[in-house]
Amino acid sequence: MDHLRLNQLLEETVLQGGRISVLAGAGLSAESGIPTFRGPEGYWTVGSRVYQPHEMATRRMFQSNPIAVWQWYLYRLEVCRQALPNKAHHALVTMEQLFPDSFALVTQNVDNLHLRAGQSAANTYEVHGNIGFVRCSNECGHRILPMPDQVSGKTKNEKIIVAEWQALHCPACGHLLRPHVLWFDEAYNERYYRAESAMQIARETSMLIVAGTSGATNLPNLVVSEVYHHSGAIIDINIASNPLGRVIEQYPRGISLRQPSGTALPEIVNRLKAIVMAPHGWQPFHLRWTLRHRNQFKL
Ligand SMILES: [Zn+2]
Repeated sequence: MDHLRLNQLLEETVLQGGRISVLAGAGLSAESGIPTFRGPEGYWTVGSRVYQPHEMATRRMFQSNPIAVWQWYLYRLEVCRQALPNKAHHALVTMEQLFPDSFALVTQNVDNLHLRAGQSAANTYEVHGNIGFVRCSNECGHRILPMPDQVSGKTKNEKIIVAEWQALHCPACGHLLRPHVLWFDEAYNERYYRAESAMQIARETSMLIVAGTSGATNLPNLVVSEVYHHSGAIIDINIASNPLGRVIEQYPRGISLRQPSGTALPEIVNRLKAIVMAPHGWQPFHLRWTLRHRNQFKL
């Protein structure tokens, strides 16, 4: 890790009072043992046919075989419920506590682990939804509801019982409820996924920390692109080299850390704490000079 460079980016952001945003992806949840469900671990057998995740996680499949889709999601729900938030989740909670008015988390993860760790719902933008919530498939009131208490998570071969199926119907209009998640054949929107708010956050971001995502989906890519184009600082955390990380490595205000999020994020939080706690006037001369002349030199 280039400690000097990392510290410089963190100090610049904190001392200017800039907004710190985090974009979290599947790599962060993988450290809690949750698979992405985009590969073989997400394959699902219905009758004699094996379906792939990009077929299961669709409105089309829900319309043609809602029971199979709900079986699959209740299995996934159980996997998520059995998992525990890891060091990365806890570090992000501490980061929010350090900067309550200038912190935002944009997450692609639907597993609910951020909120279970203690992240505030107000500053968490779940742009792909949350598997612990449901909403009416008939869109009668646009309300997002917690998973009904009567419905439990399932193992792979465990069937939904009648009382659970009844509970999976909208209390207002009686139509079937659906998982509150973005499907492959649907588009981002503000109403359910706060997509426009997430982009507004990106426009206001001074420093973006990208943790465990290679930006494979549209909106997260746009968030990174926005920060990149207004010359915000970008810290990429990923155990594997990936196209996004390689772009950040070449970016003058970026740094790539090839570490697990559970290692890198607590380290970053410790450094941020040290900067926040430092007595007034502690900043080294080179940093004070840099900050004073920042606009002049377009650093
Ligand atoms: Zn309804």
